[in-house]
Amino acid sequence: MEYVKNDKNEPVCLECGDRIIYGRSDKKFCCEECKSRHYNNLAKGSRAYRRKVMNRLSRNYQILEHLLKTGEKSAELADLIAIGFSPDSVTGFHKSRFRSDEFWCFDIKYRMSDSRIHSISKIQNVSLTLSLDL
Ligand SMILES: [Zn+2]
Repeated sequence: MEYVKNDKNEPVCLECGDRIIYGRSDKKFCCEECKSRHYNNLAKGSRAYRRKVMNRLSRNYQILEHLLKTGEKSAELADLIAIGFSPDSVTGFHKSRFRSDEFWCFDIKYRMSDSRIHSISKIQNVSLTLSLDL
């Protein structure tokens, strides 16, 4: 766990920065209110982060689905990034020794090289895949 000390090496509250005067030396907050505010903010940050990742995945899915609908099986990565594709956000990953690595975005899979994504296709029997995993 994290502890914060001021320049006189006295413990200070993680939330408001006030010096902690009472209580055990390993206390991290000056009061219950600061403690709950701190953990609420952590939870809020966690929710915001999950929402951000979900938004990225949704955007990726829209883009990939659009490519599939228009019959495109590959595209320049730079072009996709320009319209909001996030190469780092994936729901699955399979390393390949012989081809470029395979990535999943829900039920769409694709391979990605340094400059392109290609071999975009729908995963067949996705319900079967799920039931095997669970
Ligand atoms: Zn405080």
